[in-house]
Order: sequence, then C-alpha cells, then structure tokens
Amino acid sequence: MVPGCARLTIDLDAIAANYRLLRRQVAPAEMAGVVKADGYGLGAGRVAETLQNEGCRRLFIALLQEAIALRSTLPPDVAIYVLNGLMPGSEPDCAAHGIVPVLNSLDQLERWAACAAQSERVLPAALQVDTGMSRLGMPADEVDVLLADRSRLKGINVSLIMSHLACADHADDTFNGTQMRRFEAISAHFPGVARALDNSGGAFLGRPHFDVVRAGISLYGGAPNQGTNPVRPVVGLEAGIVQVRTVPAGTGVGYGLSFVTERESQIATVPVGYADGWPRSLGNRGSVYIAGTRVPIVGRVSMDSMTVDVTGLMADHLYAGAPVELIGPHQTIDRVACDAGTISYEILTQLSRRYERDYLPVRAEPPLRSVAP
Ligand SMILES: *Cc1c(COP(=O)(O)O)cnc(C)c1O
Repeated sequence: MVPGCARLTIDLDAIAANYRLLRRQVAPAEMAGVVKADGYGLGAGRVAETLQNEGCRRLFIALLQEAIALRSTLPPDVAIYVLNGLMPGSEPDCAAHGIVPVLNSLDQLERWAACAAQSERVLPAALQVDTGMSRLGMPADEVDVLLADRSRLKGINVSLIMSHLACADHADDTFNGTQMRRFEAISAHFPGVARALDNSGGAFLGRPHFDVVRAGISLYGGAPNQGTNPVRPVVGLEAGIVQVRTVPAGTGVGYGLSFVTERESQIATVPVGYADGWPRSLGNRGSVYIAGTRVPIVGRVSMDSMTVDVTGLMADHLYAGAPVELIGPHQTIDRVACDAGTISYEILTQLSRRYERDYLPVRAEPPLRSVAP
C-alpha cells in the first residue's frame, strides 16, 4: 500500500462469479450488465471486459459519452445501450459510434427515425415504456399513438423493449405485479422483440424474467432486496492509521466537539473523509474494524479524515499505518449504507478517485467435468 493512501480492492473474480450466479438465477433469460456511473464506481472498462469474458452481450449505461468511451474497448457483438436516451442533436454521434439508444419518448423516436432516413441506414434501438415509475420511457398515451401508427418505426430495428421496476427491492410489494402485467400487455404488441423488465431486485422476484435481465448492484456485491444477500462481496476498503492519541475524560473530538469522551480514551485518526465519498452522516454513527474488532466513529467525519475510538484495543494494532477495515469481511457496503442512511449504490458510486485501486483478477473456472454418455 502507498503509505497514507487508502486502498480499494475490487475483486473482478467476484464480479464474474456474481454474473454466473445471476445468469443461473434468471435462466433461460439472458443476463445483461449495467455499467452506468463508471461501473457503479468500480471502473466501467474493467467491469465490461470481465462481463464480456463471461459471455455477456448487452451492456447498459446512462449517457452517450459513457457509451462512446466504452465502445472501442469491446467487440462489435456486444451491444451498448444508452438508458437516458437521445438528447436532441446527439443522434449523429450515437449512430456513428454504433451505440444503441433507449428511446424514451415519441420525440426521441422521431429524431432517431429522421437520422436513419438521412443516413439511409437502418438504426438499432431499444424502446422503453413507462409502466408506472414516471421516470423514463414512453407514457401510456404515447404508446397508444405508436401502436396506432407503426410507420413511426420506419428505419429502426427495435432489438429490445424494456421498462423499469420502481419497487423491486421489496419483493412483496404488489406494485411489482402491476408493472409486470402492464409490461406483458404492451410488449405483446411487439412479437419477436426481446423483453427486459427486471433489474437485480427483479431477478429475485421468484417468477419468470421475460427475455433479458439488466442487473447492476448484484454484480457489484450489493444486496438485491431486503432479504439475505446471495452474491459475493466485490469491494474492500482499507486505510492505515495516521495518528493515535490518549485524551482524558471530558475531551471533545473533531469539528463542533460533537463527541465528548466519558473516560480516558484513545482516539485514532483514519485518513478517509467525506471528500473520499465516506459519508459525513457516519459521524458518531458508523464504525470501522481494526484487527477484527468493531471500533466506533466518534465526532464528525472531516473532509480527509475521521476519528475512531480505539480505547481498549491492544497497542500492537495501533501504530502509524496499522490497517483499518472500512469495507471488508466484517463490514459490507450495505452495512455502511444503512449506518449512513443511504443505499449501497451511493456508497459505491462515491468511492474516491484518491484511493489506490487494486483489481483482483478473474481466476480460471475449473473445467466442466464431462458427463459420461
Ligand atoms: C440502474 C438500472 C438498472 C440496474 O439496477 P440494479 O438495481 O442496480 O440492478 C437496470 N435498469 C435500469 C433502467 C436502470 O436505470
């Protein structure tokens, strides 16, 4: 480890294993990967390469510029879909780079069709319909207009019809069924087009998964829903103690002196703060682990550091540079997120660029034993 620099470990083997687990989970549906926000903060290029080697042939990303950055790193048979769709004026760039837009409105569809006509090409697209989340996708009245006039799709090869679940992280929410039925009804008008509704949470709803599943957080080790987490953790975060001090009872710690010691205490300073995406809301709430022992965060989290109460820990764990586990075997991203009052997605996507990044490679799968005839 670079002294003074926290280290982020990203286990590509776990990402590959999670992809395979999810693929078994959703079979016979196809597993696609979501790599928006730089692969949930873990490096879209490394993640995409890993998924592609596992056989993934569809990737979803939020923005056109993210898609363009990824395009040249992947073989042409891997489709890259832009979830946020087409902003006016971006059509030629999208077409030139062979990116597949997710068309979210009749307006986007019209501009994409015009681009196809102008370039005298057939252009690929996914269609997104809004089945109740009110975020992206054609609302019901636009879907009706489209179904009444299919000529609007001229020049466009629709390779996927999709929608997105609002409540998939709550497996027993009845709105999941409502959205599924709406999606079934609309997608029935597009026979032969692959259908995609489920995200990670949807993959564990215990019903069939249409044709394609778009998973993000479960690939990255986050729990897909409120239940037990079936996937392998992907991320580890470790820092080294900067300084340890012993203070008497009644001593204030950190900005605002929001923590005051009740006894003589040992306070260790850890060089990770909110500028590293370590949530400020963890002040006086979260914890870290030293030599497997839970150590509470005391006082406010600063920009580049935080203070933890190490009173009672053995001195041989408390030297400058001694390892501190922020995320790891004792503390999952979901635990950190819960303590911080947020979700694992936010913890991952805020992970600092300052961390030293260590990618653990994919290990070779043991060869499948052939079954005797
Ligand atoms: C982010 C996103 C996903 C992936 O969701 P996870 O909960 O991370 O699996 C799938 N589909 C769409 C449209 C998304 O925006």
